[in-house]
Amino acid sequence: MPATILQGKEVAKSIRAELAEEVAGLKQQGITPGLTVILVGDDPASHSYVRGKSKGCEEVGIQSEVILKETSTTQEELLEIIQQLNQNPNVNGILVQLPLPSHISEEAVLDAIDPSKDVDGFHPINVGNMVIGKETLLPCTPHGVIELIKRTGTEIAGKHAVVIGRSNIVGKPVSLLLQRENATVTMCHSRTKDLPSFTKMADILVVAAGKAHMIGKEHVKPGAVVIDVGVNRNEAGKLVGDVKFDEVQETASYLTPVPGGVGPMTITMLLKNTVEAAKQQAKRR
Ligand code: NAD
Repeated sequence: MPATILQGKEVAKSIRAELAEEVAGLKQQGITPGLTVILVGDDPASHSYVRGKSKGCEEVGIQSEVILKETSTTQEELLEIIQQLNQNPNVNGILVQLPLPSHISEEAVLDAIDPSKDVDGFHPINVGNMVIGKETLLPCTPHGVIELIKRTGTEIAGKHAVVIGRSNIVGKPVSLLLQRENATVTMCHSRTKDLPSFTKMADILVVAAGKAHMIGKEHVKPGAVVIDVGVNRNEAGKLVGDVKFDEVQETASYLTPVPGGVGPMTITMLLKNTVEAAKQQAKRR
């Protein structure tokens, strides 16, 4: 039987509806969640991502602001803006759109964000809390991956999950979150030898390598849940994932499409983090 297609768009829509209700309730208590996005430079893809984030905020009732800065902005100017936002009680979440121009250190900028407002979940304190299993703001794409798997009704505990990719923004946190859900996790990466011997053992396979169509049916155990995080452009300029969709659809039990799978979940988890940050900050006032 062909795989059920995991429509991230649909899951994201239902989570956003839940969030909209929650935000309406918070507003009645005098709490309006607020997100500020800082965008430096004129990269068209970044501008498009930021538009998507603003639209998402509007949809659920989060107050959002975008600070646009020129490519020539200095690191000091950017750090000054972040300090002001850290102090501003109306701003619950701060997101600096990456990548930054090469003269600005991404590490210095991300470290400057107040961890309680770090809705991207990239601050070392939040990463550390995630590692030790404390409640914290989780990175959006990995969090979205876990939510998608959960919404299939698949029990993660006790399953063998294989993650391809070990980046700080996707592979590593996905592995940690799966471990936290009590999966037995194997991490594969560019130096892994005989990749199919590992992936064929996976009940849950998460692919985040950024290599178009690298995973075919020879990599997938029949009945596996396959989550394709990869976003690549093929020669025709079309967006494709890391998984050969048509082939793997015949073997997997669930499979995410690209686009429309993990992507829509990422922004939705950002909205969820902003609401969570607003609630936590209100408790501390
Ligand atoms: P990255 O380049 O930082 O990391 C890629 C990882 O894949 C590395 O750890 C590398 O070791 C591993 N890898 C590369 N080739 C491999 C191979 N042949 N076999 C096994 N492992 C291999 O990329 P990233 O930032 O982690 O992103 C991964 C993909 O996910 C990209 O396509 C990116 O566009 C996509 N992405 C999507 C979203 C979303 O919201 N949908 C968000 C973030 C990233």
